[in-house]
Amino acid sequence: MHYDAWFRDADSGTGRWELDEIIYRSPSGGLLEVAHDLEALKGRTAAGWMKLWDGRYKRTQWPFSSGVWGKKEMVLPNIPDADIVSLDEGGTNLFWAERFGRELGVKDLWVKQCGVSHTGSFKDLGMTVLVSQVNHMMKRGKHNILGVACASTGDTSAALAAYCAAAGMTSVVLLPHGKISPAQLIQPIANNSLTLALDTDFDGCMDLVQQLTEDKKLYLANSMNSLRVEGQKTVGIEIIQQFDWELPDWIFIPGGNLGNVSALYKGFEEIRELGIISRIPRIVCCQAEAANPLYLAYKSGWKEFHAITAKETQASAIRIGNPVSRTKAIKALMKHDGRVEQASEQELADATARADRTGLFNCPHTGVALAALIKFVARGEVKPTDRVVVVSTAHGLKFGNVKADYHMGKLPGIVSTYANPPVQLAADRQAVYDAVMRHMEKSFG
Ligand SMILES: *Cc1c(COP(=O)(O)O)cnc(C)c1O
Repeated sequence: MHYDAWFRDADSGTGRWELDEIIYRSPSGGLLEVAHDLEALKGRTAAGWMKLWDGRYKRTQWPFSSGVWGKKEMVLPNIPDADIVSLDEGGTNLFWAERFGRELGVKDLWVKQCGVSHTGSFKDLGMTVLVSQVNHMMKRGKHNILGVACASTGDTSAALAAYCAAAGMTSVVLLPHGKISPAQLIQPIANNSLTLALDTDFDGCMDLVQQLTEDKKLYLANSMNSLRVEGQKTVGIEIIQQFDWELPDWIFIPGGNLGNVSALYKGFEEIRELGIISRIPRIVCCQAEAANPLYLAYKSGWKEFHAITAKETQASAIRIGNPVSRTKAIKALMKHDGRVEQASEQELADATARADRTGLFNCPHTGVALAALIKFVARGEVKPTDRVVVVSTAHGLKFGNVKADYHMGKLPGIVSTYANPPVQLAADRQAVYDAVMRHMEKSFG
């Protein structure tokens, strides 16, 4: 069976450009999207697709063991397997947050651990697709591409650097100096990326990388490049697959540039077309109050959208004031009655720390989504029997500095209610014994 895919204008759903053209925007200035020949895909039944994907899921057959490439027919159907650059992304665990759920009064709470992956964030899902496609074009001598470049709030650059290093490709990353975590900075450095730390914010880096990639010698890897969305859309499909093809009621997902929330909807819309699901779960896009242009637009009843200058936030990977994928995201949220919520620095810090106490180890962005969930539960919008999934976008270890600052009481303006700082003691038997006893009394009364 032949499955076709091509770029088209995302706003109008029209036009056709081949996937091996270097094109990021349509002539109208809007974003592109990858279109699939859904009629051809419907040649297999819904049950047939589920069986095929289940048979591949986390098995060993290259490249289908990857959560992304296991669904190759609806990602990049025609790339030769030999050109795929995969680091076995996807297939991340779905954590039943039983204790935290009980604390909140939501029994059926799950956290999709996208950060438990090669570079520690969901960005791997999209980057495998983009780097594979560039690898495919370079191997065929198409376009004289010299390398791949991106602007990043830290996780995109880590993923780009790793996938390019694995494929032997040159990568260039533009980062806002001093605005990403030390772990995120060392990742592209270690993976031999040309790492440019610029005196600007993410939005400034984004402007520059678009100019840098204009002559097409460097391929642009930001999520305005719709190839990344094709990998990221598999996360929603995978969540449903992990529930044996049953739908959750709610999905909470942090949003910055809004590529990921757009991707989630795209995956759901496509598998609904294929008859695999009958409805689309209610999605809540969660923003930090310090970087909340989508929330403000939602509050205006979707009447207006204004780019803002994003302020400092613990959730540094979503510190974005002018999200590239806003049109796609707003269109999908409006169509499917999606919601938008925000969380203050205090709320996200506390939600992160509270959930960590129940066995999770969250990044601040996941904390934003957890804080939003807490608000939905308090308002009675999320019911005690609802099945809820929180998409955790990165591994907490990438943000160890922020997490440590919380527990040490060093986050400016934040009250560290759930702090658990280390107790420094002399190496003395009695001192240690006393400390343990004090702790036990506090814990058990
Ligand atoms: C990139 C990123 C996000 C935001 O995703 P968008 O597609 O930009 O909305 C959220 N959390 C983390 C950890 C990220 O790296």
